[in-house]
Amino acid sequence: MPPAEETRRRSPSDYIFGKVLGEGSYSTVYLAKDVHTNKEHAIKVVEKAHVIREKKTESVMREKEVLRILGNSCPYFVRLYWTFQDTDRLYFVLSYAKNGDVLGQIEKHNRMSIDCTRYYLAELILGLEYLHSKNIIHRDLKPENLLFDENWHLLITDFGSAKIISTENGRSVEESSIGEPEKGERCKRRNSFVGTAQFVSPEMLTETQSSHASDLWALGCIAFQMACGRMPFIGGSEYLIFQKILKLEYAFPDDFPREIKSLVEKLVVLEPSKRLGASDERRYSSLREHEFFAMLNWDDLGPPPRLS
Ligand code: ATP
Repeated sequence: MPPAEETRRRSPSDYIFGKVLGEGSYSTVYLAKDVHTNKEHAIKVVEKAHVIREKKTESVMREKEVLRILGNSCPYFVRLYWTFQDTDRLYFVLSYAKNGDVLGQIEKHNRMSIDCTRYYLAELILGLEYLHSKNIIHRDLKPENLLFDENWHLLITDFGSAKIISTENGRSVEESSIGEPEKGERCKRRNSFVGTAQFVSPEMLTETQSSHASDLWALGCIAFQMACGRMPFIGGSEYLIFQKILKLEYAFPDDFPREIKSLVEKLVVLEPSKRLGASDERRYSSLREHEFFAMLNWDDLGPPPRLS
């Protein structure tokens, strides 16, 4: 039997709220301490009125549902401990990512070392194996959404753009969103895209179906950025970035590490089914077997290398 404290409902009075950790487009995230356990959490506070006004109800519901499905079975995701609400706000009690995000580290060191790139891509791949086994596509993977926990392990976050795929006869079918988009949101989607311009896959732009392979495209873009410090597709506007993505117009800098190049080339591929791993019978054996990971023990990645 769990202790009584773990089963009863929670409320804001169970936490001491501290500094603001960050702001999202419809939320504020606070550092907070559980008064019963002294454990630190990040609490995401969402103003109900703001969410309704911005037609983001679907996204908030989806994030909660995905975090609920993920539970605590895989260490590479932010964990949702509790949710509660008062008249005006929703509260999500999350694991506290004490050490910032991958983007912060890339910016601090101009890039990631090869050892760090290998290690954190491996944690990301293990996370994706789990996520995709649950038929969830993230759709907004990028270095800012890869946080570090207190021991410098990866915590994948931000499931507001995620999609839960339903399966029929073992085949994935489009598309099971949690909750219906509000009026206006569906219309807006036709002319917009899900995710972040620099990491969005070509099929998500041309409005054919997104799939697990869309996350593999983003994985390739993240590998590129970790290894050389900048994103593969950059441009003065979203339109120009999209044009480059659709034409696969990107170039490796001269000093790009040779070991990682072929991994990127095999992931950043226009045709989704041709991306490394996309057609694996056993996810993601072909990624695990790529030469860049040859020295890695996938059953025990060991402690993270020093970030540099
Ligand atoms: P948007 O809602 O616009 O997509 P977002 O996804 O970054 O933005 P939030 O998830 O509300 O929005 O997060 C806002 C900020 O709070 C983040 O950028 C990050 O700096 C911080 N943050 C979010 N979750 C955590 C966490 N679990 N631990 C530590 N800091 C966090």
